[in-house]
Order: sequence, then C-alpha cells, then structure tokens
Amino acid sequence: MTHDDSDTLRSESWHATSTDELFSALAADETGLSADEATHRLSEYGTNDIHDAKRESALSLLVSQFRDPLIYLLVVAALLSLGVGFIPGGEPNYTETAFIVLIIGANGLFGFIQDYQATRSIEALRELASPDATVRRDGRKQIVDAEQVVPGDVVYLEQGDAVPADARVIDAEELRTNESPLTGESTPVEKTPGTVGEDTPLAERRNMVYKNTTVIKGRGRAVVVDTGMETEVGGIASQLGETDDQRTPFQAEVEHLGKQIGGLVVTLIVLVVTVQFLFTATEPVAILLVGITLAVAGVPEGLPAVVTFTLALGAREMVARNALVRRLPVVESLGSVDVIVTDKTGTVTENRMTVTRLYASGSVVDLSDSSVQSEGGPTENQQIAANGNERFRPTVAPLLRCGARCNNVDRTDGEYRGEPTEIALQRVADEAGIEPTGERLREIQFSSERKRMTVVVDDGEPTAYMKGAPETVLDRCDSILEDGDVHELTEDKRQEIRDRTESFAEDALRVLGFASKGVDDPSADADQIEDELVFLGLQGMLDPPRTEVEAAIADCQSAGIRTVLATGDNLTTAEAVGEQIGLDPAGALTGSDIDDRSDDQLESTIEDVDVFARVTPEHKVRILNTLQDTGHTVVMTGDGVNDAPALTQADVGVAMGQRGTDVARQASDMVLQDDNFATIRDAIQEGRGIFENVRKFVNYLVSTNTGEVLVVFLGVLLGSLLFPARFSGTSQALILTPILILWINLVADTLPALALGADPHAAGLMNRPPRPSDEGVINTRVFVSILTIAILLAVTGLGIFFYALEQTGSLLRAQSLLFTFIVVVELIRIQVIRSRYDQPLRSNPWLVGAIGISLLIQLAVLYTPLHGFFQVVPLSLVEWGWIAVGFVVFLLLNVFIARLNTRIFDSRSSK
Ligand code: ATP
Repeated sequence: MTHDDSDTLRSESWHATSTDELFSALAADETGLSADEATHRLSEYGTNDIHDAKRESALSLLVSQFRDPLIYLLVVAALLSLGVGFIPGGEPNYTETAFIVLIIGANGLFGFIQDYQATRSIEALRELASPDATVRRDGRKQIVDAEQVVPGDVVYLEQGDAVPADARVIDAEELRTNESPLTGESTPVEKTPGTVGEDTPLAERRNMVYKNTTVIKGRGRAVVVDTGMETEVGGIASQLGETDDQRTPFQAEVEHLGKQIGGLVVTLIVLVVTVQFLFTATEPVAILLVGITLAVAGVPEGLPAVVTFTLALGAREMVARNALVRRLPVVESLGSVDVIVTDKTGTVTENRMTVTRLYASGSVVDLSDSSVQSEGGPTENQQIAANGNERFRPTVAPLLRCGARCNNVDRTDGEYRGEPTEIALQRVADEAGIEPTGERLREIQFSSERKRMTVVVDDGEPTAYMKGAPETVLDRCDSILEDGDVHELTEDKRQEIRDRTESFAEDALRVLGFASKGVDDPSADADQIEDELVFLGLQGMLDPPRTEVEAAIADCQSAGIRTVLATGDNLTTAEAVGEQIGLDPAGALTGSDIDDRSDDQLESTIEDVDVFARVTPEHKVRILNTLQDTGHTVVMTGDGVNDAPALTQADVGVAMGQRGTDVARQASDMVLQDDNFATIRDAIQEGRGIFENVRKFVNYLVSTNTGEVLVVFLGVLLGSLLFPARFSGTSQALILTPILILWINLVADTLPALALGADPHAAGLMNRPPRPSDEGVINTRVFVSILTIAILLAVTGLGIFFYALEQTGSLLRAQSLLFTFIVVVELIRIQVIRSRYDQPLRSNPWLVGAIGISLLIQLAVLYTPLHGFFQVVPLSLVEWGWIAVGFVVFLLLNVFIARLNTRIFDSRSSK
C-alpha cells in the first residue's frame, strides 16, 4: 500500500467521511499497515508527538540566568568599580570591573549548562514515561511506542489506555473515553462506529477518539487519521506542553533565600555608608568600594546551579533504581513521607498467578502438591491430589470452561498476554483440555466497584459466564451445579461456599467465584443477564509475595515509615498476605467498615489499621484524606483508571510501569518501572539523601557568604576605629577586595559544593524518622549553624587580619592572610559538616579531588605571578603558622558550638 498524494491524508472532516472513503483516503484497511509502510509513513509524517510550544529555547534559558536580583547587584558592583574613576580622588579599577564581568559571564554560562542538562534529562524522563500503543501491523497485534503511530494504523483501545492519536472508531464494545483534556468536560463520552454530519462539533463526534484523551471503559479498534501536531490537541496551542510548574520547593526556597540575602546586603550597605559618611572622615570613593565589596560578598553565586545539578543528578540516580520521577518536586516530598499505602497484586506480590485449588460439586481439588501448605496434617485437597488422576476430573470442567470463556487473554504464538488473573484461568483451562470458545456476543465489563465480569458467548446456544469476587457472584446465583445436575442453592450450600472461600483465603489464595446460565436475549438488560445464575464453583490462585518486600517494609519501619495494605481482594486473603509480609492484620477493615464510619471515627482508628480489604478507589481516597488530615505525608500506589484521583491527591502518587493503565501513570508523580514495592523504599532513601546533600551545601555556601559579609562589615567598622588613618582614604582601604571574594565564592567554594551535591548517602539515612513536611532546607538548626560559622569566621579571620596588620604594618599582607585563611577554613570545614553525618572524607572521591584542586589553585594564586593580578603577596612559613593557629581556634570553637547545637536540637529529627 502506498500513497503519493499526502493531501488525501489531510482531511479536516474525518468524522463525516464514509468508512469506504476513509480507508481509501488513508490507503489502509482494517487489517492494518505493513511494518514497511509504517516506517515509510513515519518518515513522511514525522513522529506522533506534540512539540512543546512552551519549551524554553536555549537562548531564553541563557538570558534567564542573568535575570536574578543577585546578578543585578553584581552588575551594579561592576559599574560602580568603573564609576569610582569619575569621583574626584578615585581611579577606575578596570581589572576589577573586568573580573566581575567575567565572573557574571562564567556564572551565567555555568548555570545555563546545568539548567540545560537538567531540562534535557527531565525531558528524557518524560519520554521514558510516554505511553505505548497497541497496533495491528503485518497482520499481528503489536505494542509500539505511541510516538511511532502513523496515519492508517489500526489501534486497539482498552480500558485505561491513553488514546495515541486522533482516530476513527471502527468497532467498539461499550467504549467510553474521557475527553476532558480536550473539551474540559469530564463526563465519559460513548464512542461508536459510524458517520456523523460535517458540522458536528468536536465534543459530539461519537465516531472519533482523540489524542491525549483516555479510555475509561470498554474496548474497541480505531484507524488513525492524524498524528502529532496534526491532531486536535496539537492544534490547540494553549493546551500544549506541560503546564505544571516544575520548579521544586528547594529551588523556590533558594530563590527566596537569594532575595533575603539581597535585602540584607542592601541594608548593610546603607548602614555602613551612613555610619562612615556621618561619623568618619572616610572619602566617598572608599565608602563606595565598601558597598561594592559587601554586595559581592553577599551573593552566593554558585548556589542555584549547584541545586539544579544535584536535583538532576538525583532524578537520574532514581531512574537507575527503577523509580521514574515524573515531577521533580516529588524528590523533596519523598524525604518527608511517613506512610505508604500500597495495593497488593503485583506491588507486594509477584503478580504471577497460578490456579492451585478448585472447588466444584462439593469437593476441593488441589492442583499443587507442594505450593499450598496448610497447617497441621495433609488437607482434604492434598489427599485428593495424592490420589493421582483426580487433577482434572469431569466435575470441574464447567468451572474451568467458565474461567476460559469469561476471559480477555490474548494467546498468540503460545504466549499469553493480558491480566495475570485471567492468564492463570486460561492456562489451567488449557491444561485441562477445555475446548476453544464460541463467538463472543457481549461483555459486561469488570470494574473494581462491580467486582465481577460477565460475557455472553455462543456456545451452541447463547450462554452467560460470570466470574468475580465469590460473595458478589453468589449474590447473583439461585442454583448450583453439582455432578452435572442443577440444584437449588440452599442457605446451607451458600454457607459451605463461604466457608470454602474462607479456607482458601486463609492460605493467602486469591479466590474467584464462577457462574453461568443460558440466555434467551443476549442484548437484554445487564441486570437481567447477571441474575438467577447457576453457581459453578471456586478457583483459588496463588500469587506469592515478592521475596524482597518483607525486608523493604522492615526498612521503612525503622525509617519511621508505616506501610498500609489497601487491596480490592477479600479480607481473609488480605490479612494472610499482610501477615506474610510483616504487617499486623489485627483490626483490619473492609471497604464497608469504612463506609460505616464517620470521618472522626476513621481518624481515631486509622493509626492502628495496617490492612484494608475489599476497598474501591473511592475508599482509597478516603483512607488517603484521613491520613493527610491527621498530618501524614503519604505515598499512594494505584494502577486502575479510577485510581487517578487518589494518585493526584497523594503527596507522592505512584503508578506502575509494567502493569496498570496509562491513566494511572499520567496521574502519578512517580512510576515504578519494576512495579516493585521495594523500589518505593529505594526512592524514599534517595529522596532523603538528596535532601541532605542540598542541606549540606546550602549550609556550606550560605555560611561563607554570611561570614564574608560580616568580615567586611565588622572589619571596616573596626578598622575605621582602630586604624582611622588607613581606613579612611585610599582604595586599598578594604578588608578584602571584591576580586578576592569572588574568587573564594566561585573557585574555592563551588567545586567542593558540587562534589557535596554528589555526596554518597549517609549510612544511617533510613534509621532516622522522616523530616517534618513543613520543614524547609534551612531549619532552625541549619540557621543557627550558618550564623555561628559566619560569626566564628569573622571573629577568627579579623583576629588574624588585625594581628597581621599590627605586626607587619602591611595591609596587602593582612589581606593575603585573611584571604588564604578563609579558603583553608572553607576547604576543611566541609568535612566538619559531613562528619555530622558520620561520613569519612574518603567516601567521596569527587570531594577529595575538588578540595585538592581548590588548594592547588590557591597556592598558584599565592606563589605564581598570578598574585600580581589578585593583588596578594606570597605568605611566609610563619604566616602559615598564624593561619594554623587561627584555624585551630576556629575549629575548637566550632566543635564546641556544634556540640551545643546538637544538644539543643538533638530531639529534632533531621540533621
Ligand atoms: P489490588 O487492589 O491489591 O490490586 P485486586 O486486584 O484484588 O487487588 P481489584 O482489581 O479491585 O483488586 O479487584 C477486586 C476483586 O474483584 C478481586 O478481589 C476479585 O475478586 C475480583 N476480580 C479481579 N479481577 C477480576 C476480573 N478480571 N474479573 C472478574 N473479577 C475480578
């Protein structure tokens, strides 16, 4: 099939075309495209993706680096150092101006590279999370990346799927979609094949499905008419791209911090200038210079870039551990999670179901000799199994047939594809040699709320087959099949079935009930079809817990995180599985128990309940709301179409990468690529680690800036008092020059800070309680730590400065000493911060390297001709001795205050 005239594929009114015209315009038919033709069309029409109109261009990303109040402050400083030349008695300092401009440029470029990489890796993450599509190509059903879908492809749509492209429906079975992303209307829209009038508005085109909408019920097939930017959603500019603010709370906090620092610096400048102007004879030039220096000292130039770098690195690390972060802010929320509400099937269990027990005609058949172990002696079932050929005696055939008929598993090339429960039912039926099904006439779909599914099949005569939760199926039956005869379903027999269900469930089996009946009118009301059925029996399935889950739950517990199981399965099964994975089944509640309780009653019991059974998605939302109302930060997992509200409302909504629906994935914050509960623990651990690293370098960088501001501020004030002659005249009358300060902030500090961002996580990370959710990066403890370090740095640094000035009489020498002292203190102080987390220096080779490089550069500045540019002098051995003394004093005072700080804040959770 080829087509030369691409215009034929660009119709505006696919909805109004007749089916024949549609297929001929698309040069396609119901059997789908060939793989070659699909490749050809892909190169012709492009990939099926929406280009994000809001995506920032590289240029605007670069420009945005300079739109920052702190950068403005630096620009003013550069202009001032140039402008000083125009004041009588001053001379323009070109070197300084050039250096500041260079620093602004370098900083902008560095920030740009970081941001660019971060944006790219977030985009890559989003791509990883992009949905698949099921198409028919080369005459076979295939799963392809939704981006590879082309016009003419026949796509299969199932409940929970994201519609991959705009397509015309060719057949449908109760197909309903949610078109709210397109129309804003969230009421499900029924979709049927057919043709509608040319003027039918988009929202009423029943024969079309659209990209970015989702299938919330039913199934169907559709032929793709438009892809990518040609789709309706591609045409609506305002709805393009991700509208979410991807800025994380960290980044917002850092930005806020920047503003605060800016405000503080401006206040200090005003103060110093006023004091000097009014009370000293300082010349205006010198006053201006102090202002410039203060501005430069206050700006934590490297901070935003280090934050971005750390978050992007963290998100990448999470992917490596199978947790795909869809929204960056979640990295931070993960650190304060204290409850995980998880579903059962597939997350804590392996989702590899095997039918191990049957109950039909009053007796139990055990299909496994070893996997089902009951306490005490051999069970009745095991005895039956021991009898040899009892495995599939004729009385179980109707039960197995029902499991195979009422089933949507796809079997091609001997491979089973579909839901694990249904695969298990199909497999056991195949093993028993149940004959293939007749034509399916109707399906009344399964949903978590209905807990049952019914099909009508032409098995010689139309027959309804139902499977579902045993109590639900039992409610719909009035008779029972026993040894080939239909009998009345007496209360005694119902009780016997309930007892059997209970005994299966006690062994952690998932139990389904089965029923059937002949149907006169397959199109009758669903209620009529699903009534007065003949009960056929029970099938019990084993789905073993994943081996790693018990340990993961124990780890979470020691990290102060409670795990709660909330499953749609039966109470007894839920209790048994809960117990197997280390939860306390005592006090377990069911969905109807939740319904019976008021909000207050639920709040007062929720802390003691580890297991919830027979819950619907609405119950999950209620559990979530109750936990959040009682102050918890909650991770919630979900995989169904109806789980979207719970996933959106949870602090961290978690969907599954392998199992589960596109709808759930799109509503989630994080996707577990391996569907495994243990990955949630890993992600939390990672989130906590990232938070700690951010806290470490924020503490490190901000305390340096605060220290420098104090050094300059107090130094100038003290200097004007102690050495009035020196500190009132020349442009040299500074404690530290702007160039030196920029050097410290950008070279000496930034490299080690970046290495701190990549710090390995501390060992005791998961032995601490979670961080309170309202606690930012700078909590009281960090604030006190920043302030004390800044004060100590100022006190010891100025001590050395004035001592040197007194001893040598050289301002240049005193400045060189103070400069080197601050750099040395900075480099060693990193380890002081890390030692609070019990981390030895060698645990981070990057850090060792960064410190080494910074130290070498410092020596180069002092002892090579570079010192001329920086206006410093080489230090003598004796002067290094003074630095050592100053450092010991700093360290002792620091350790003392840190101990005090620990004692005061030890009761608090986070470091
Ligand atoms: P979890 O919530 O932990 O994933 P679940 O799969 O049991 O557990 P639901 O999908 O809400 O939860 O199913 C609820 C109940 O409906 C199941 O316990 C089972 O009895 C019944 N059920 C599940 N799948 C089907 C199906 N395909 N057809 C008929 N009944 C089903």
